[in-house]
Amino acid sequence: MKMNILKYFPSPREFFIETPLYHTVNLKGYDVSKAYAIEYFKGTIDSHCIECGRHSVFEPKSSYSINLKTYETSYLDDDEFELVFICTRNNDHSMHFYFIKRKGMLLKIGQSPSLADLATYDVGKYRKVLGKKYSEFTRAIGLAANGIGIGSYTYLRRVFYDLIDRAHEKSGDDLISKEEFQILKVKDKIKVLKDYLPKVMVKNANIYSILSKGIHELDEEECIKYYKTLKMGIELILDEEIRRIEHEMKTKKITDEIGNISGDLK
Ligand SMILES: [Zn+2]
Repeated sequence: MKMNILKYFPSPREFFIETPLYHTVNLKGYDVSKAYAIEYFKGTIDSHCIECGRHSVFEPKSSYSINLKTYETSYLDDDEFELVFICTRNNDHSMHFYFIKRKGMLLKIGQSPSLADLATYDVGKYRKVLGKKYSEFTRAIGLAANGIGIGSYTYLRRVFYDLIDRAHEKSGDDLISKEEFQILKVKDKIKVLKDYLPKVMVKNANIYSILSKGIHELDEEECIKYYKTLKMGIELILDEEIRRIEHEMKTKKITDEIGNISGDLK
């Protein structure tokens, strides 16, 4: 089993619902209160509830606690613990996190629901605009949730490039011939298609080159570090696409209806 040792101490929320399994913190490098804050976490967690199918607040199930002084004498001992949180919308819904401590290292070994399930809940709205690429977008999110950064970038880049391809199809051959288009660099393709692509994509065309650099030159950890921003960049592009499609549909509907009314009134 490969252990990823974190270079920082995550907040309880980060450790529970953002940090992939088998990620570890070396407790010896930090103040005891940080380990205490995880093991005896008493706050609430804001998260999507898979079973409610919507956002919820989760409360810790256990009220068990010891004081920090007592904890200090034993917190580096080998141990294991489970944290259970209950959905405040429905007490039958729960989240579980499993940790072990070995040789002063705190390791996350399990959780339910999975990070991938938690991370993909809010992207369903992109299914329509992504079409066949939707499954690749959720795969990118699932991989990143498991700490696989380079694989995630590969899928994000395919999603990004597909938007260019589709814009080119829509633009027809009048703008640029297929042959000329083929040999252009991606950033030039985006320039040529600027009237057919979401504005935010044209403005942030370098998302593509960052993803490429990630795939070819960065390591897993560096890819994960920039992942969140890049994913949000792509979501922003997709949001603009959704608005455009909705606007087009509304325009068509109203134009048709106005035509009908005019017909009726003749
Ligand atoms: Zn729930």
